[in-house]
Amino acid sequence: MPYHVPHFINGQNIIASGRTLDVYQPATGEIAGEVTVADQKTVEQAIAAARAAFPNWAATTSLKRARILFKFKVLLEKHVEELAQLITQEHGKTITDACGSVQRGIDVVEFACGIPAHLQGHYTAEVGTDIDSYSLRQPLGVCVGITPFNFPAMIALWMFPLAIACGNTFILKPSEKDPSCSLRIAQLAKEAGVPDGVINVVQGDKETVDALLIHPDVQAVSFVGSTPVAEYIYKTAITHNKRAQAFGGAKNHCLIMPDADIEQVVNALVGAAYGSAGERCMAISVAVIVGDALANDIVEKIQKQISTLKIGPGSEANIEMGPLVTKAHWERVKSYIDLGVQEGATLVIDGREFKPKGFEQGFYMGGSLFDNVLPAMRIYREEIFGPVLAIVRVKDFASGLKLINEHEYGNGAAIFTCDGNIARTFAAEVQAGMVGINVPIPVPVAQHSFGGWKRSLFGDIHMHGPEAIHFYTRLKTVTQRWLKNSTGSDFNMPTH
Ligand code: NAD
Repeated sequence: MPYHVPHFINGQNIIASGRTLDVYQPATGEIAGEVTVADQKTVEQAIAAARAAFPNWAATTSLKRARILFKFKVLLEKHVEELAQLITQEHGKTITDACGSVQRGIDVVEFACGIPAHLQGHYTAEVGTDIDSYSLRQPLGVCVGITPFNFPAMIALWMFPLAIACGNTFILKPSEKDPSCSLRIAQLAKEAGVPDGVINVVQGDKETVDALLIHPDVQAVSFVGSTPVAEYIYKTAITHNKRAQAFGGAKNHCLIMPDADIEQVVNALVGAAYGSAGERCMAISVAVIVGDALANDIVEKIQKQISTLKIGPGSEANIEMGPLVTKAHWERVKSYIDLGVQEGATLVIDGREFKPKGFEQGFYMGGSLFDNVLPAMRIYREEIFGPVLAIVRVKDFASGLKLINEHEYGNGAAIFTCDGNIARTFAAEVQAGMVGINVPIPVPVAQHSFGGWKRSLFGDIHMHGPEAIHFYTRLKTVTQRWLKNSTGSDFNMPTH
């Protein structure tokens, strides 16, 4: 029976009338439910709720806000399995992968629980005679988060817990492709004691996003999604005087040196390229291999591993790779594999025809591997966001590094080597925001911040960790003097 995913406004599930969108179950290809696109009126309702809740929430001490977040963390931990099931149902990834992603979100809630310490300012006594200075970090007001389909829980949890910990109120606009999980998370936040109106969820697509982006009562916008949309969101938000951070797409390279441990490399590449069907912004999509002998060896070993990949419904035990999120996305990934063949890359493994028995209507694709990919090819330059790994052969470290640095994206980059000097040079010179040394997917843990460079991020401030405290607060510096005796007017620039 198809279900309807409501909005969550002012602590209530809201079913509004309007345009609806189908939500699929990618494992079977069936329509699982629907969402109603929040129109201008519904968006206004959510913003009004968030605006009304702001003064009291901002005035709630950070210690009290932290106590509520502690309860929220405990509730999330209790519901990991339930949330993972919602993710697997609508996104398709395996249950264990979904559980891991929820946990990476909970890690950020745990970081947010330390908000009293994170909000500590600086105090300097006697910056002048009888004058002290101190700094405050104050909340902004109503903040908005727009999230992509690939991490329905994790990215929402990377945004709003820190925003509300800082004293802001929040409106989350999840991906219309898998909206149920964020809704459930907001309901759990309410159960934990987050007051009504502090966290709201509006479902929808571009129409909803546009209404949020230009609204004068929205102070800040966090976005994660594809690069063209990220650029649009960032430009529109800043034009409307909002603080903005917009995280875009990626093409993550892994540079493999001849001295690397080959078994470690092959395991890392297969997991990082094909895990979550390649629908990760930090997935390795390009392996840059130094030397033909090494490349031949790696291609042969990857080929063997891919042939044993267990692909099927993410809810089944032992499955390693689930389906793609929608039929439209499946078509897009397939069209890139078709293109790679036309462009002259060597398609070593072709996943286009793969269908698990009994699930022929699901959006499955096997792992694909391209060798001899050249930098001019579109399959190298553009993000595919599917289970497709490209091998680019280079002659040495310098040409591998140059290749990576010339790519328009700069989310993550990794190197596999046993040479500390090479690794240090790579870390220092690679043009990417997150770097792995013998680590294929270097997603920073919660107490560090997450973010790419170049066209993988529009804006300056990264997500979660200390950078998020900066993003979700405004700095105020107070200079105070308690005069014992009046000194009369002073018409000169004060110096101390
Ligand atoms: P998407 O850009 O299609 O959608 C992201 C969000 O924007 C959704 O909520 C969607 O409803 C909304 N949206 C879509 N088109 C819009 C438009 N024209 N105007 C306004 N809003 C619009 O991205 P997706 O397909 O959901 O997610 C996959 C993309 O996200 C990939 O490119 C991936 O690399 C990227 N991603 C990046 C990061 C990162 O941290 N850099 C993390 C995860 C995913």
